[in-house]
Amino acid sequence: MENKSGTDKESNENTVKKSLNFIENIIEEDLSNNKNESRVHTRFPPEPNGYLHIGHAKSICLNFGLAKKYNGLCNLRFDDTNPTKEEVEYVDSIKEDIKWLGFDWDDREYYASDYFDQLYQWAVKLIKDGKAYVDEQSSEIIGEQRGIPTKDGTESPFRNRPVEESLELFEKMKNGEFPDGAKVLRAKVDMNSPNMHMRDPAIYRVKHATHHRTGNKWCIYPMYDFAHGESDFIEKITHSICTIEFEVHRPLYDWFLDQIVEGEYRPRQIEFARLNLSYTVMSKRKLLQLVEEKLVNGWDDPRLPTISGLRRRGFTPESIRNFADTIGVAKRNNVIDVALLEHSLRNDLNKKAQRVMAVIDPVKLIIDNYPDDKVEEMDAVNNPEDETMGKRKVPFSKVLYIDSNDFMEDPPRKFFRLAPDKEVRLRYAYIIKCTNVVKDENTGKITEIHCTYDPETKSGMGKVQRKVKGTIHWVSADHALDAEVRLYDRLFVNENPDVAEEGKDFKSNLNFDSLKVVDCKIEPFVKDAKAEDKFQFERQGYFCVDKDTTDQKPVFNRTVPLRDSWAKKNKKQ
Ligand code: ATP
Ligand code: MG
Repeated sequence: MENKSGTDKESNENTVKKSLNFIENIIEEDLSNNKNESRVHTRFPPEPNGYLHIGHAKSICLNFGLAKKYNGLCNLRFDDTNPTKEEVEYVDSIKEDIKWLGFDWDDREYYASDYFDQLYQWAVKLIKDGKAYVDEQSSEIIGEQRGIPTKDGTESPFRNRPVEESLELFEKMKNGEFPDGAKVLRAKVDMNSPNMHMRDPAIYRVKHATHHRTGNKWCIYPMYDFAHGESDFIEKITHSICTIEFEVHRPLYDWFLDQIVEGEYRPRQIEFARLNLSYTVMSKRKLLQLVEEKLVNGWDDPRLPTISGLRRRGFTPESIRNFADTIGVAKRNNVIDVALLEHSLRNDLNKKAQRVMAVIDPVKLIIDNYPDDKVEEMDAVNNPEDETMGKRKVPFSKVLYIDSNDFMEDPPRKFFRLAPDKEVRLRYAYIIKCTNVVKDENTGKITEIHCTYDPETKSGMGKVQRKVKGTIHWVSADHALDAEVRLYDRLFVNENPDVAEEGKDFKSNLNFDSLKVVDCKIEPFVKDAKAEDKFQFERQGYFCVDKDTTDQKPVFNRTVPLRDSWAKKNKKQ
């Protein structure tokens, strides 16, 4: 198929490599039919009532991605028609998150509230055309009259009131003459439609509330279905992409457009399956609950699926974009394993992250035959995946720390780390042999491991050396920095936290071991690291400097362990 705007080589190559998804098929067909002057113009329309999450990231990647692929544009539009739940803090965080993900709306930052005057005019036009009326019944009665899909609804006694009367009442609604809920403007569509959304839906309701942008100018606010399509029309959107639950709203989207469209141009709503991830919740209402009830530490808690939480946890924009690309777009809802997101992150960090040695559960290791005051600078590779990242020096001395898990007094046969009379290599340094241990008299806990080193076995000396099976990491006791490490794990214990025991809700599935704070010893290389810097702690995982970090004490968040420990757990079960 001819790809009108995809003339650059890269996009043609992509087209060849990957088959088109169903939305791309629609777009390419529209382009070949010269629909809407062959423009592609999408929008991302968040409601500023919470922070963005990974589901939104999928929608952002899709909308901005399609615009880019087809040389089109993507607007940022705040869907701010509900003044009571919306705040400026959310607007700011949303903008920051989209930018961080790597997308740009240039100067096209719009607000549905910018269109309130125009929307009001269109509502008046609907009344004049006999397509809308003011209803004075309570919402309960209106609900009852709507009925059920298999039976015809009941028309409101106000449905056929004179146009003049509705015009007058609508104006009074606007002028604040009625209390909340007293009157509603309804579209006159079809009370017998099997689609409940078509049974004279509300267009405007009375709400005396201060809006974060329009202040107290309005005390009537348009409903989503009316505002959304008409905003698309104002912005000349061509493809209005939303999630699958809006499929049943589409006839109404089209009905509203039918009332105002005059020329050739017309936006089209296309639905795709929303992203659901295992082991987490994504509804903004639930995320808000976790934040407000202080079950997590704010919207950017590293355990949340919010974009700001993922950023603080150590995710990279690339890993999220690649993830969105991998899962693709479908029409049917499904649940994606969070392990896939973590996999995408490991792939990215493996290529980028600076390696360091850090000892999380330290025990002292003393090399008895190493000179007391000697310090050597060992050469360590910064990233074996990327030579250009070079090398660094790591101080080595007589007293080191190693991870207590790397030593066993009475090891099983296949334990290749350190044990009495056994040899092991210290990464970037020497082969050592354990001679004896010192224990705390009261607790029996090992306090010191003693060993000897073989000076002939220094790493990188190029001599033929004897082989040992294990290599362990270490830090020099005198040179190591003390750091705080926050070991994060999944926030919920089961795949679908929404399924809870009877009488309980999703919060009963919280994982109470989702955060452990421990001290660690880390090589001095990290002393100038700043928030969001990422490291691989060798043999352990990826870690990211937290914003709480100080000169006195660096703080690291565990982003992901090197391997997916939950896969193992699940296998055992
Ligand atoms: P919630 O149900 O959590 O409140 P929402 O859909 O109401 O989310 P909006 O701010 O209206 O949140 O969403 C903005 C855009 O992001 C919409 O186009 C919506 O379809 C899309 N979106 C929201 N959640 C997801 C998701 N899980 N997967 C894909 N797209 C999503
Ligand atoms: Mg919404």
